[in-house]
Amino acid sequence: MHRYDLISCHDCGVLHQRRPLRPREKARCVRCRSILYRGIHSDANRMAAITLGAVFVFLIAQFFPIVELEVNGYSSSATLLGAIRVLWSEGMQLVAAVVFLFTMVLPAVELGALLYVTLSLREGRRPPGFDHLLRAVGLARRWGMTEVLMIGILITIVKMTSLAQVLVQPGLFAFGALTLMLAVVVSFDPKILWNIGEHLPGPRRAAQQPFRYAALAKGAPLLACHSCGLVESLKRTVRHQYCARCGARLHRRHPDSVGRTWAFLLAAAILYIPANLLPVMYTHSLFGQEDDTIISGVVYFWTSGSPALAAIIFVASIVVPVLKLAALALLAWTAQRRSRWRPLQRTLLYRIVEFVGRWSMLDIFVITLTVALVRFQSLAVITAGPGALAFCAVVVLTMIASMQFDPRLIWDPVDTHGEKHV
Ligand SMILES: [Zn+2]
Ligand SMILES: [Zn+2]
Repeated sequence: MHRYDLISCHDCGVLHQRRPLRPREKARCVRCRSILYRGIHSDANRMAAITLGAVFVFLIAQFFPIVELEVNGYSSSATLLGAIRVLWSEGMQLVAAVVFLFTMVLPAVELGALLYVTLSLREGRRPPGFDHLLRAVGLARRWGMTEVLMIGILITIVKMTSLAQVLVQPGLFAFGALTLMLAVVVSFDPKILWNIGEHLPGPRRAAQQPFRYAALAKGAPLLACHSCGLVESLKRTVRHQYCARCGARLHRRHPDSVGRTWAFLLAAAILYIPANLLPVMYTHSLFGQEDDTIISGVVYFWTSGSPALAAIIFVASIVVPVLKLAALALLAWTAQRRSRWRPLQRTLLYRIVEFVGRWSMLDIFVITLTVALVRFQSLAVITAGPGALAFCAVVVLTMIASMQFDPRLIWDPVDTHGEKHV
């Protein structure tokens, strides 16, 4: 038996033996039911072709105008980069940098690394840097927000139709296509690609030696990588042990997980107050000046006959952040008290928090595009307000808080059945 045939559950730490799956089949954890890995068409030709297509669509989406506005003969259009630049020039550098990172840099890293890896796998070899690139794909995927941006674009368009004539541009179709293609690309799970790569010739790290199954059978200490699931023997002689496959630092549990979760959570909760009280946008028009907070934006959609949009923004910007803060506080508090209360439901709650976290950025994307589009000097100009900065910080801080929380802590007091690492 090879050591890559063992996988540790990310959410609860139970060890599993891996077996090949058919496409679309999912392997779930026996204890917490989280998805361990999925079966995919391991046809590298197909993967490389879809990734290459996504790269082309990505370039069109990034550099072509998304929408154009026309009012009384004036017109303005916005590309994503142009919108970010407007935000930057208005003193919102931090928000501009975050939007740039989540919508351009990280999706580019994901697609670029995947293209390089799948093209090499297609030729039947492991490329240099294979392991690090796959780890980068995993990280970029957690923070990349193309699908959230797509919904943000649609909301902006609906919002603008009441102000001006909206002309749809090629960038919008490209973003639509990119969102659909990324849904396919996401199924190219690094955990699967690692397994395909294992059996191919190519550069390997010196540390990779065959796993001795006997060590597990005897109950010898094992350590699992929280980023790729690889299981290794604990080396008591070294101070810091790093994953032999992806290079991540290995810990039995995230160090000081609960304390760090509380710290980020507290910072987010404090900033949540200015995020809701301060204006996120200022409108200067012929009719005077108007300040918009997040809640007044919701009211605007509600009263202007778009209750569905009002509901989406209300849920994404107000309900989700509050529930996320409450859910993370509950998880941190119960983990701290080593509670045995409903571990399965708490693990599910953790997965929901991880999944919905990014959707709170929706309002920030709408603000970014609105600010870039409504720039008619004599008629109306919209600029971003300090509330946007506070809100952006709340979203990023709660995402970091949920990443600091180690879900395996939920299961530690419950039982140690099946979990053999120290
Ligand atoms: Zn599990
Ligand atoms: Zn690893």
